[in-house]
Amino acid sequence: MKPSIYGLEKAELIAWFEANGEKKFRATQVWEWLYEKRVMTFAEMTNLSKALIAKLEENFEICPLNQIVVQESSDGTVKYLFELPDKHMIETVLMRQDYGMSVCVTTQVGCNIGCTFCASGLLKKQRDLTAGEIMAQIMLVQHYFDERDLGERVSHIVVMGIGEPFDNYDNVTKFLRIVNDPKGMAIGARHITVSTSGIVPKIKEFADNGLQVNLAISLHAPNDELRTSIMRINRSFPLAKLMDAVDFYLEKTNRRITFEYIMLAGVNDRVHHAQELANLLKDKKKLAYVNLIPYNPVSEHDQYSRSSKDDVLRFYDTLKKNGVNCVIRKEHGTDIDAACGQLRSKQMKKRS
Ligand code: SAH
Ligand code: SF4
Repeated sequence: MKPSIYGLEKAELIAWFEANGEKKFRATQVWEWLYEKRVMTFAEMTNLSKALIAKLEENFEICPLNQIVVQESSDGTVKYLFELPDKHMIETVLMRQDYGMSVCVTTQVGCNIGCTFCASGLLKKQRDLTAGEIMAQIMLVQHYFDERDLGERVSHIVVMGIGEPFDNYDNVTKFLRIVNDPKGMAIGARHITVSTSGIVPKIKEFADNGLQVNLAISLHAPNDELRTSIMRINRSFPLAKLMDAVDFYLEKTNRRITFEYIMLAGVNDRVHHAQELANLLKDKKKLAYVNLIPYNPVSEHDQYSRSSKDDVLRFYDTLKKNGVNCVIRKEHGTDIDAACGQLRSKQMKKRS
């Protein structure tokens, strides 16, 4: 299988050209075709010689993904189901926000973390995505705009699709460098958020990697007992260790951190949970932001239901009263299997 050229950083592309007896400026031309003119075949790169086009075709493919389903929601959310070269399926979601066009990308086929409320974890990890396969998701959404002449640009990225990004750290950080390249897609680091279930050593590594990308932590519970019961990973990295890594991150970067908290009726949404959460975050108040997320029902996890509006508001008020920054997340695409992993899991059922 040929690697996708989307998986190369610019410096790597240049190095490949030099190693193959080609001029450096040719690599820059190819980079422009990929990310400015955004062609999908090497043959369209008309300022390259036929021989060079043939050489590129022999060594790389451009887009490794095949589009299977596109669902458009009444609120403008678009959900894509893509097939990988080895026939695995992944999902990507485009959300139209007031501040821009935000794309949610998948980083693994399945997920080994197995959180009890999540559709993605229903499938054990089959494999990691390559940097090129993650980048291709962004490019296909951008092509969706280009084909419709909408003049729109992918402006924000959330790494919150299927998979645990820090269980595929090297490919994910490579992708971040490619998509952030100022001469490429040029998506600003501050417009990118990576969400992790809490892999402690990687949070520390991420703090040190020099990228100015935002970090979100899937917290979902304010104490170890509850968190372990809904997120198995809390056994390996309990709250004390997680908060240690968070403190390290805050000290190193001085950037704000988001804590995601899914509101599960009767499970973690009581006022005393909010108080406990405020306590947990009390020494980080200025830099900690809590994102209260409405639960997206997953049919395989019918032990959970979403919290009532009143309970969400009470929870929110308790956090606010205790000085914790907090927002209630707006929902997108609820009419089109919005939760990550849902479209994929439905499609697989249809096929089997
Ligand atoms: N594995 C990473 C990133 C992907 S999940 C992580 O867990 O952070 C992205 C976010 O979606 C996480 O906060 C996750 O907890 C949340 N999520 C998973 N299933 C959900 C559901 N059914 N409803 C709402 N949010 C969900
Ligand atoms: Fe994996 Fe994140 Fe889903 Fe947990 S919430 S199973 S870590 S994708």
